[in-house]
Order: sequence, then C-alpha cells, then structure tokens
Amino acid sequence: MSSVSDGFLGDPDYVHALAAACQRFVGAISIVEPGAFIRGVRSLTGEVPVADTMARAMVLWTALSGVATRGAGAHHDLFHRCFGGSCGFRSPWLQSLDTLSAAVLRLRVAQWAEVYAREFDAGHQWPSAVRAAALLRRQPWACGTLLSSRMPWAPVARPSREASS
Ligand SMILES: [Zn+2]
Repeated sequence: MSSVSDGFLGDPDYVHALAAACQRFVGAISIVEPGAFIRGVRSLTGEVPVADTMARAMVLWTALSGVATRGAGAHHDLFHRCFGGSCGFRSPWLQSLDTLSAAVLRLRVAQWAEVYAREFDAGHQWPSAVRAAALLRRQPWACGTLLSSRMPWAPVARPSREASS
C-alpha cells in the first residue's frame, strides 16, 4: 500500500511529523482561555519539521495556513459557544503563498496569528474568572508561593515514601 508521501515527499516521517504538529495545535486551541490560540500557533510554527525541499515547503504552507485559519474560526466559535453572544468578527486575511522559503512561511503564519490575536482580544472580553484561571495555570509557582508564605493552613510538603526507605 502506498501513502501520499511516496515518491513526492520521500520520507513519510516528514508527513507524519507535520500531521502530529497540526494535531497538537488543534488540541492546544481547544482550551478556551486567553492566549491559548497564540500559544498554539507559536508551538505549531516552532514544531513543524524542517521543509528542505520545495515540495515539502508547499505541503508545509498548505498544512500551516489551513490548520491556522480553520483554528482561528474554531477559536472564535468556541468563545461564543462557551460565553454566549455572537459578533461579526472576521479573521484577518493570511497572505497567499509567494515564496517557498520555509522560514518565511512559518514567520508569515506567526505574524498573521499575532494580528489575529490582537484583533480578537480587542473585540472580545474574557470573563474575569477565566482570565484568572488561565493566569494561575500559566504561573503555578505564584499560587504555590502565595499559599506557603501567607496562609498558615497551607499544606506542607511531606517526604515521599520512596525517599524514606
Ligand atoms: Zn465574536
């Protein structure tokens, strides 16, 4: 049985690595909280495999642009599904393919995502509890430090059973 990558991209590992990065992006943006989309795009553009041929650069662009723009729409839909309301917000346009430099392609998607995130945040108000939860999740040390230094009832770390035996 042949795969889509046979003879075109050469190494099926390239396609699988690209698909895995896209799948991780989809998982990352399914978290409905401030910053999730832009963090997902940053991870995506940083994790995609190196496109060292023109064919791979074209496949890279197709995958990156497709998953990022569809993800932007899904991110917006999830926001209103979770927090109500609706609006006419539209994602900015992502420039069409005009280079086969993989580095430039990744940069274009990253820059587009920054603009998208700014415009999205300007037009949508995250609930305070969601913003606070996202902040604590990203900075768990702040919560631990606060609990251990200011609250006498805070739990004290106990040595594990493995350490005492
Ligand atoms: Zn909206």
